[in-house]
Parts: sequence; C-alpha cells; structure tokens
Amino acid sequence: MKAFYADEQKRHDPRAFLSSGAPQQNPEKPERIERLLAGARRAGCEIARPRDHGLGPIAAVHSPEYLDFLEHIFARWQRIEGASAEVIPNIHPIARGGSYPASAVGQAGYHMADTACPISAETWESACWSAWSAVEAADDLLSGSAAAYALCRPPGHHAFTDVAGGFCFLNNSAIAAQRLRTKASRVAILDVDLHHGNGTQGIFYARPDVLTVSLHADPARFYPFFWGHADERGEGPGLGYNLNLPLPRKSGDEAFLEALDAGIRRIRSFAPEALVVALGLDAFEGDPFGGLSVTTAGFARIAEAVAALRLPAVVVQEGGYLCDALGDNLTSFLTGYAAGGR
Ligand SMILES: [Zn+2]
Repeated sequence: MKAFYADEQKRHDPRAFLSSGAPQQNPEKPERIERLLAGARRAGCEIARPRDHGLGPIAAVHSPEYLDFLEHIFARWQRIEGASAEVIPNIHPIARGGSYPASAVGQAGYHMADTACPISAETWESACWSAWSAVEAADDLLSGSAAAYALCRPPGHHAFTDVAGGFCFLNNSAIAAQRLRTKASRVAILDVDLHHGNGTQGIFYARPDVLTVSLHADPARFYPFFWGHADERGEGPGLGYNLNLPLPRKSGDEAFLEALDAGIRRIRSFAPEALVVALGLDAFEGDPFGGLSVTTAGFARIAEAVAALRLPAVVVQEGGYLCDALGDNLTSFLTGYAAGGR
C-alpha cells in the first residue's frame, strides 16, 4: 500500500509537557517520524508526498474560529510581554457556554484542553501537512486503492471540532472519514490507540453516518479521564453510533483481541462502505505510557482481524512513542493487514 507523509510534519517540535504536575520532555517528538517511516518501508510501502489540499477538507471538520486561532495564536502570543516561548494555556472555562474571549490567553484556554499540546511557530504548518497526508490517503482510496497509510504526525484523535488536546491539533482520522463521506454513504472509524479517541467521538457524536468505535485503557484512571466510558453511546440521531470498549490497565493481546471482536461485529452490522483505522501503537507493552500490554506480534493479529472486514481502509497514524520497537510495531501491523486481506 502507499504511505503518505510530508517533511514539513517534522518541524513541530513541542518542548513543554506536564505529567502529574511535573515538567517533563514532551514525548511527541519529530524522531517518531523516522522510526515510523522505516517501519512503513520495511512493510513494503511506497512513500509519497501529499498535495497541499488547502483548508477545505480541514474546515469540513473544524470550526473557522478554531482554525484562525491555530494559525495566528503563536504570533499573537509573542506580543504578550513575559509570555512563554510556546503557547500553553493557564486558564480553562469549566463549561463552554460562556462568551468567546477576545484575549490570546483566554482563547488558549478555550481552544486547548490541556497543557500537552504547546503551539510553536511551526505547529500550524506541521498540523496542516499531517491532515493533508490523511486527505491524500483518503483520496487514494476514493480512486480505487484497497488500503492506504497516512503517517500523520502530529497526531489527531484528541482534537475536537474547536479544541486541541493530548499532542493533537487537527483530527486527521475525522478529516479522512469526512473526506471519504464525499463518496461513501457510511464510514466507520476504528480507534485502537491506547487512549480513548475523545475528539473523534465528540466530532461525530450526534451523527448516524459515521460510526465511531474505540478500544482503550479504562479512562476511570487514565487520560483522557472525562470520556471513553462504555455508557457514552452517542446522542440525538447519533445515539447508538458510538461504541467505547474500555480495557483494564495492562491488558494484553488476548483481552485486546476479544474486545476488538466486539468492535468488528458492530462495524459489520453498521455495514460501512469505507473504514478509517486510527492506529495508535502506544497500546504496546514497551511504550513509555505503559497503559496496555499488546505485543509486536499482537499488532499483526489486530490488523488481520481488521483486514478480514474486507473494507477499503485508510490507516491513520495516531500515538505510539519512542521505544526500540516503534517501527517494528508498524511493520507488524501493515504486514498483518496485507496478509489478512488476502
Ligand atoms: Zn495514545
């Protein structure tokens, strides 16, 4: 399968990150790209550069005020005397029904869910190219390919319509799904990242045309905490079109595959015309986040089960952090997917 990626995606290099209140190095590093590219090449992918698709496919998912914020907030932040080198919020609305603030500080709190997504001079450009990689992969599918891989970095599944969070700015998986909707009447998103795909859930929560299924570590004691529970099923016309499958911490291959089976059954009954796989590799047993215990061989088994759906699929990169096996885990998934599709 083809893999899509642009060098501009490396330029975003976030520094700040608070973990349990303590400053740490931000784990969403550009080096992830080198490891993932090597992993995609080992799986036989041909790497291609996406085109600049403009704001159209991004604005199909994100609000105009949010996109304006992401594009301009860094320059505005630099004009604040004594401000931090990266845009990091220090105040958040406890509910979002209040007024939209005019100030850069107020808007940072309004549009950023947490401190894990600092914005620098390069963030907007990198986030756009990451989204365009997802758009290009969706277009590859629409022109007849059975599967395509989008090496999206920065990742996207924690980004809502108008909120960044958890290393994510533009929701690449949602943008790919919306792009597929230009031809497919129903699209499913299967999120296998360690963390719940809260932004993706939020974007499609009231819609019956995009089914969202997420497997993840139980959010009762794990990021993103406020979303990802089994009783979140959608709302209005979207009721019944969101499925959360939270797993106990440290769950391994067998528990993951069992939950995956329930997710796949739901996707089958939904009968979509296309699939987006939000591929986080941080469910790996050796990932620095240490939330679940999926093995390298386990990713191949996950991929084989997904490929058995025999749906045209865009595989969108989400999480997966620096560890020796990061590239191998991608190779395992992509080769497993090819084997399962035969
Ligand atoms: Zn994750």
